[in-house]
Amino acid sequence: MKKLMWTVLCLFAVTPIILYGAASDKKDILFQQATIVSLMEGVYDGPLTLEELAKHGDFGIGTFNALDGEMVLLDGVFYQIKDDGVAYPARPELKTPFAAVTFFETDLTFSVDRAIGYLELTNLINSRLPTLNVPVAVRITGEFEYVKVRSVPRQLPPYMPLTKVVETQPVFEFSRVSGTLAGFRLPEYMKGLNVPGFHLHFLDKGSSRGGHLLDCVVKKAVVRLDITPELLVSLPSDTSFYSAELKDDDKGMNAVETSGR
Ligand code: ZN
Repeated sequence: MKKLMWTVLCLFAVTPIILYGAASDKKDILFQQATIVSLMEGVYDGPLTLEELAKHGDFGIGTFNALDGEMVLLDGVFYQIKDDGVAYPARPELKTPFAAVTFFETDLTFSVDRAIGYLELTNLINSRLPTLNVPVAVRITGEFEYVKVRSVPRQLPPYMPLTKVVETQPVFEFSRVSGTLAGFRLPEYMKGLNVPGFHLHFLDKGSSRGGHLLDCVVKKAVVRLDITPELLVSLPSDTSFYSAELKDDDKGMNAVETSGR
């Protein structure tokens, strides 16, 4: 018994050093701040700054404190798409109540060279993936016949739930526009934690406008996919998160993600 305990203690003593060395250069991790259910319940203020978030990735999507617009993180640069549909450079001291990021490294790539709609596009991506059971970062760059996006207006406390906010969301439509769709395709079992299926944000080529994607027709684009089999979730330790009633809400989730589609 003594010998066994000593072995166990030795393992504990050595393991952290090995893990630390391995973790420092790991890039296939999806880092997530808070949860989609907390955002849906109106927990719109979080403790994490963009500067801190950037330590976990150079690519991703999310929102800002007070629900002040849609976030796009591309090549390490944060954009804040406010309710006027305009993309503003986001200052590093801004904070987020919900975001998901990773260091984007292409695992799979293919081209689209004919006009296809959103459903066909997502089906095509699904058919190219080796599995639908791990998170995948999705980056689609090219020309679009049509893009329909929304943003969310900055909220004042006491906060309404997200299902109420999206009833007043401004929607923007762009025709014949170049740009990038950025986001994730997540497995169904991640429901509650994040958005299952596809969740994409659009940023145009000049980084001047965009939003949360509702619909699109791709004309000619390159699709790049980054399989991220590890998941790191950071949960806030403040009163608003601790006291929120966090529950599964399928209908609410669907309304929030696709309302206006
Ligand atoms: Zn979104």
